[in-house]
Amino acid sequence: MSFSSEVKSELTAIKTEKSCCMLSELNALTQSCASMTLHGHGEFSISYATENPSVAKRIFILLKRRLEINSNPRFHKAARFGGRRVYIIQLSPADSRKLTYALHMLRKDESGEVFRGIPRHAMTRKCCQQAFLRGAFLGTGSIVMPEKDYHLEIVCGSDQKARVIQQVLERNDLSASLMSRRSSSVLYFKRGEDIAELLSLMGAVRARMRYENILAQRSLRENVMRVTNCDHGNLRRLLTASQKQMKAIETIRNSGHFPDLPPDLQAIIRLRRQNPEMTLEQLGDLMTPKLGKSGVYHRFRKVIEIAESIENEQTSKDE
Ligand SMILES: [Zn+2]
Repeated sequence: MSFSSEVKSELTAIKTEKSCCMLSELNALTQSCASMTLHGHGEFSISYATENPSVAKRIFILLKRRLEINSNPRFHKAARFGGRRVYIIQLSPADSRKLTYALHMLRKDESGEVFRGIPRHAMTRKCCQQAFLRGAFLGTGSIVMPEKDYHLEIVCGSDQKARVIQQVLERNDLSASLMSRRSSSVLYFKRGEDIAELLSLMGAVRARMRYENILAQRSLRENVMRVTNCDHGNLRRLLTASQKQMKAIETIRNSGHFPDLPPDLQAIIRLRRQNPEMTLEQLGDLMTPKLGKSGVYHRFRKVIEIAESIENEQTSKDE
């Protein structure tokens, strides 16, 4: 499974309960996956197309729960997707009308019904903004494994759609770059920290953890490359110790026991993750109050002991 599919399957498993957020997510999914067919006499129908089965299921569930729209997803091999399998959700004209009203794409005034190009939806609440970003990524987003490159992108049909997503990102202190590729506008991120932040905004908690672990390991390696005029023996010792600590930290975080640790251990873990290349003295200097080398060493001893006991517990469970 690609990393994109992995993130998407985590996102589509998030429980949808609040009706405001369901609409925001549908809004973004409609902008990225839906198309409209006009039948004349003011009749039209909307259909969604996606290659990802869990995204198709998500759209189906949101339509049903939020708008009581029942639609049967079906799939077929479409030439425009390079012969790949595509899942289609086709709405009846009546349901299409219901959806466009709910999304404020269609409204009534004196002269009759007026169409807006894209949904207008204030999304003042944080929860709805997050749901909107999730929908946008589920629709046309992709992410590269951080071992290879730092890259997350969302393909937008038009500049206007890209700007709407950009505004929502900005309200959450994230800024994406914009490029054009063929006839699309593409929003993208190139900084690992921003990508990790967006993952957690969208609700992909597991993916964020995995991403950050790899980020920390990469920054450790890159820092080592940078240090050239350093005593090799010392450097190796420092690295082995730091790697051992990072491995223990990862075990604890993956086990979910991190919040149970005493605050002094949590603090040293946070510092180490941010500064994998630092010596114990340097880490101690960053603490408030400052802590000597042996104090820092003892805390890591405890961290490693805890990780070992978690590992022992896990292997005894597996047996
Ligand atoms: Zn909401």
